[in-house]
Amino acid sequence: MRKNRRIAALAMAAVLAGAMTGCQSKPADTTTAATEAATEAATEAATEAAGTYTPGTYSATVTGMKEMTVTVTFDADAITDIQLEHEETPGIGVPVCDTMPGQIIELQGLGIDAVSGATLTSNAILEGVADCVEQAGGDVEALKAVKPEVVKEADEELTADVVVIGAGGAGMAAAVTANQAGKSVIVIEKTASMGGNTALAGGALNAVDEGSEEALARDDSVEFHYQQTYEGGDEQGDPELVRKLVTEAYDGVEWLMDLGMEFQPGLFTVTGGMWERAHKPVEPEGSGFFKTYQAYMDEHDGITMKYETTAKHLIMEDGVVTGVECEGKTGNKVTVTANNGVVLATGGFGRNVEMREKYNEETKLWPTLDESIPSTNTTAITGDGIIMAEEVGAQLVQMGNIQLLPLGDPETGSLSGNIEHAVESRIFVNKEGNRFVNEGGRRDEMTLALFEQPDTLMYIIMDSDGYPTGDEVNNFNETINDLVAAGRAYKADTLEELAEQIGVPAENLVATVEEYNRHCLGGDLEGQPDEFGRTLFTDTAQENDGINDAPYYAAARVPTVHHTMGGVKINVNTEVIDTEGNVIPGLYAAGEVTGGIHGSNRLGGNALTDTVVFGRTAGENAAAFER
Ligand code: ADP
Repeated sequence: MRKNRRIAALAMAAVLAGAMTGCQSKPADTTTAATEAATEAATEAATEAAGTYTPGTYSATVTGMKEMTVTVTFDADAITDIQLEHEETPGIGVPVCDTMPGQIIELQGLGIDAVSGATLTSNAILEGVADCVEQAGGDVEALKAVKPEVVKEADEELTADVVVIGAGGAGMAAAVTANQAGKSVIVIEKTASMGGNTALAGGALNAVDEGSEEALARDDSVEFHYQQTYEGGDEQGDPELVRKLVTEAYDGVEWLMDLGMEFQPGLFTVTGGMWERAHKPVEPEGSGFFKTYQAYMDEHDGITMKYETTAKHLIMEDGVVTGVECEGKTGNKVTVTANNGVVLATGGFGRNVEMREKYNEETKLWPTLDESIPSTNTTAITGDGIIMAEEVGAQLVQMGNIQLLPLGDPETGSLSGNIEHAVESRIFVNKEGNRFVNEGGRRDEMTLALFEQPDTLMYIIMDSDGYPTGDEVNNFNETINDLVAAGRAYKADTLEELAEQIGVPAENLVATVEEYNRHCLGGDLEGQPDEFGRTLFTDTAQENDGINDAPYYAAARVPTVHHTMGGVKINVNTEVIDTEGNVIPGLYAAGEVTGGIHGSNRLGGNALTDTVVFGRTAGENAAAFER
């Protein structure tokens, strides 16, 4: 009875809230649960006057990209305030933290969809509020049934000089460049914010400033960057495209700096990057790029962002691509026409399981890429641009070249929660507590070996070298202390305790670490190389002498789909090439949607370079294209 009373009062509150906000949002009278609740409200409200909630303020701690505290205030009938304490990612999670609490209060309901591209943050907020509702004695299920009303908007027809599809790194570089050439630009973006996978990237951008002191000190040159990129991709990349990537990389850095983007001093080697030539932005992850592009748009007219608009088909007239047909947020049709060119920059297909499986069949690189294998990508990265380009006759190249990393979070596939800080000072063990691979090897070799392990899962094992306080942050701005507190990493004073926490046989873990330490300390190794061929044992910067300084740390990791190197074939002008080898007039492509640059294996730090170099060319050439 008490429960019914709550639902009854809740439905009344929702109806009232709808009335008060001019019905901008109203309860979901389309769902059975809400309808039943509303009926009960009508019959019971007259006789019952008890409140929906126990008034007060309640808190819950949840995990988005990082730990978040959600504090909700209730009066007897309504949610009156929601406060968040969070450290979500600027440009991705932060906009959701800014808007979603207001939406929940306005709706007096929890039936709000997660924002595409920021699902972790969205779900954390919804979960935190639900927890507080429960604490206040409210009915979470009834609140989830309260959904915003969707009113289909009118169809739209828009025109600009240049149309860019996808507001990730490549698309935004193209949009800004086309605008710098004096053109009006419309950017079509599926999600509610710019960023794409680029915003989630570690931020490293490989570029050689040929002849500079920094390059000379590292024996680096554009030619060496070329060799490492080409050979690192097993010589499968198109030499002309690789040459362009490395030759124009530093111009790209200078262009970004001219736009106001700040980089940290010095250079570093990113995992899988092979050489100390990565520039690291001051802002975390890829957010600096989007802050820079946004600042440009704040100062210059002519770039219109069409968010929550999904490109569906390219429009072709007399063999020329002239625009794109899209679907708006409410299912309405949005037709966008370009006076000049169209740039395709929709990213890869890491989140399209069907495409992953289909193209993995071609190379059989991976035992499986079905839905059990997560991805580091945002949910929007589903190969749409590749499908659209194929519809107008584009040639697809090297689609089976799909890069996985062995470092995915078991829940989300994200690279967040990674506890390693240097290749030299960590080992990987399987569920039996045994090492199984050279942890300093290629990304693909490590991941393939991980596929062979029980439950396709491993633990990174570290000691406290490099974590003197535990407050040092990883690429995702997470400290190891945060991760341990959130149950995403383990910490123990002895290896035996650590083994118990992660459920591996203690004697195996101890023996594994002892053997590894023997190599680190360099003792008694004559004629006894590491059984997996590992050569990186000591990291002088970290004064690493093996895994022997308590506390010890562990974190579980699984294979995760990271980058799809195949895609639409382009030439050095970023013109899209058809199956006959001819240019498709009016259509340009840049970024992960394209194929044939990185070959079988993309070097760490080359993806951001790709977005800037090819994005700029696509923007420039689409601006210059005349029908
Ligand atoms: P790149 O690194 O190549 O720039 P990103 O992953 O950073 O790729 O960006 C791709 C962008 O394209 C993302 O913001 C994604 O949401 C967007 N996108 C993907 N498919 C579509 C589509 N059909 N319509 C509009 N935008 C799309």
